Amino acid sequence: MPAPRPTALVLHGGAGVIERADLSADTERGIREALAQAREAGDAVLRAGGSALDAVQATVVALEESPHFNAGKGAVFDADGRHELDASIMDGATLRAGAVAGVTDVRNPVVLARRVMEDSPHVMLIGAGASRFADTQADIERVANDWYDTPHRLQQLHEEQAREREAAEGEANNLKGRYFGTVGAVALDVHGNIAAATSTGGMTNKRWGRVGDTPVIGGGTYADARCGVSATGWGEFFLRLAVAHDICARVAYRGDSLKQAVDDVILRALPALGGDGGAIAIDREGNIAMPFNTSGMYRAWVKPDGSRGVAIFGDEG
Ligand code: ASP
Repeated sequence: MPAPRPTALVLHGGAGVIERADLSADTERGIREALAQAREAGDAVLRAGGSALDAVQATVVALEESPHFNAGKGAVFDADGRHELDASIMDGATLRAGAVAGVTDVRNPVVLARRVMEDSPHVMLIGAGASRFADTQADIERVANDWYDTPHRLQQLHEEQAREREAAEGEANNLKGRYFGTVGAVALDVHGNIAAATSTGGMTNKRWGRVGDTPVIGGGTYADARCGVSATGWGEFFLRLAVAHDICARVAYRGDSLKQAVDDVILRALPALGGDGGAIAIDREGNIAMPFNTSGMYRAWVKPDGSRGVAIFGDEG
């Protein structure tokens, strides 16, 4: 009997200015536990022979459920003191994809994104329309908008509003490193298929229906037969560079190694344009890459040999 194909999983819980001094020992422990729990949820699916799609969904749901991350419970507040959530998911084997943006009343936006992919003829639904689509789905759990609230994110909103008021001329719109907590996962399953998913509350104090890269297929999420990517960072720059698709295109068209493609985009093209953040990626051999150009990125992984880890800061893992 041939040996079973290797599986692999990588996840992120956002990149940004994450300094040791800013995390209490308790918070850091809680975050590491939540990352490990999400990793095990996804890996259990893969080890049982499940699909990469189910694995990334299970991983992202676990992260949406954790108040530590800016997705689902614990999503950031917008300028009106409310929450608008974005999510997407893509199946590399079929190139099918689903996405939702500006969601206000669904507990797990990534599950709704999956339904858009599987139960609608569309790829992306937004705002009130996404809610109406959710109404047609029997088991999509709905919540009131304040269900996503956490005291920590409210404090961040107040800090951000104070910073904006006091910012020097021309600095108010500089959002570099001013976000973290978006979540995502990429997996390779036993059948050799890759999937990716990403979920976020977006950026603190956002207004005017702002949508970043997370729900945009090719921006914050992409998967094909060779490569899968989930990104996190200052979304406007990821959109302008079509980061997730660009990474997979470099692998597909130029034959770049995964590491070279991800490093070129995240460590060179993105900062050259003035953006920042990170990405996680997997190729069909199960190679994993997780570079970032910020001080930290919450991340966890299981390699094809079964070795696994959790890391936060730049000098780990
Ligand atoms: N990329 C997300 C956005 O711009 C934010 C993040 O990754 O933390 O909405």
